[in-house]
Amino acid sequence: MASQRQIKVGGVEIGGGAPVAVQTMTKTETAEMGATMDQIRRVAEAGADLVRVAVPREKDAEALKTIVRESPIPVIADIHFNYTLALKALDAGAHCVRLNPGNIGGPDKVGAVVKRAQELGTPLRIGVNSGSLPAHLRELEFTNPVEALVAAALGFVELMESLQFTNFKVSMKSTSVPNTIASNRMLAEKIPYPLHLGITEAGTKWSGSLKSAVGLGTLLADGIGDTIRISLSTFHAEEEVKVAWEILKALKLRERGPVLIACPTCGRLQFDMDTVVAEIEQRLEAYEDPIEVSVLGCAVNGIGEARHADFGITGAKDMGMIYSRGEPLKKVPTERLVDELFAEIDRYYAAGKRVVRDEADAAAARAWLAENEDATAMTPERLAALEAAAADGEEESPEPAAPAAAGAPGRLDEQASPVAGRRFTRA
Ligand code: SF4
Repeated sequence: MASQRQIKVGGVEIGGGAPVAVQTMTKTETAEMGATMDQIRRVAEAGADLVRVAVPREKDAEALKTIVRESPIPVIADIHFNYTLALKALDAGAHCVRLNPGNIGGPDKVGAVVKRAQELGTPLRIGVNSGSLPAHLRELEFTNPVEALVAAALGFVELMESLQFTNFKVSMKSTSVPNTIASNRMLAEKIPYPLHLGITEAGTKWSGSLKSAVGLGTLLADGIGDTIRISLSTFHAEEEVKVAWEILKALKLRERGPVLIACPTCGRLQFDMDTVVAEIEQRLEAYEDPIEVSVLGCAVNGIGEARHADFGITGAKDMGMIYSRGEPLKKVPTERLVDELFAEIDRYYAAGKRVVRDEADAAAARAWLAENEDATAMTPERLAALEAAAADGEEESPEPAAPAAAGAPGRLDEQASPVAGRRFTRA
């Protein structure tokens, strides 16, 4: 379940069933104001709810004053080792300060930071990393790294509570995906505070995204985790935000922008679908609405698998077809498929989210589909459907759901999130 308690970072609710917040971290030298503010604006545009900046020097703490004032999203100061920087970050107006109570110089110094945070009403994030556990847990770390992480986190939670401070969230990060999953599951059962999730030093855009999707996706599907950060080895922090959104969208926890679905292709493919899908994905970035766009590599399946898509294309060697919600719209030469697809999408918005259908064009498209469809071919999709039906002990595949009516408002808005204790939201 989502955490019981909720905190607010700036205006962003964290925990207590609030939508999972997307966070990232700038990669610039914080005091380099131009570069830092550019990056903050880019990540905010990409959908970050919160941004963290490193504060390792006095000049970074000084720069925070302006950054906090100018940032379009709440700013979290990331502090290690130096409690005076944590105090300065709080005084600079940081919306939250992240620190590891184990490396800040002892309980007295943690107490001083907590006292100032309390006076200002600023939340803290208590971070525990597998690489920097307190000395008394190092041995346990070798024999049981999960228990060591949880014990460290619980120790810091007790320290906060002993200071009558509860305005905090907790993170336990590890480079190990299984340890991250196991430790967060264990901790979520023991404390009511919001949890920040991440796989530390996850890796490159490719491997790091996958590791994060597996680790964070597993926890989020359990209802654990209130804010997430994808740590990728890239200077472009907005890439982390995009990956975070894909994970949340895949779990139907939040919604932002179009959803592109595309078949995996196979030997029936007769056009350059790689290029077409990449172009569609890139052009869809200009749209904010959560429309679903489908690309099928061939029409042998008909368009049954894509009947829920708001718009889609399927192609053959020279000619292809555009469809909407299971119904053909028009056939067009393959080289014009993408442009015509976007013309239809734009027409839909211009008509107030109503699919505009020319009956003559639709009839020609239906005829093309009838020529190209092969209802007897054992395509990957049909085989998968048969296997699924067999697994369910059914003799026939279930009837697909009826397509949404043209212009029907926000299908996804009406769905409850399948993840326990969550509201489903759109960015
Ligand atoms: S049979 Fe399926 S996977 Fe193969 S190209 Fe056609 S739609 Fe794509």
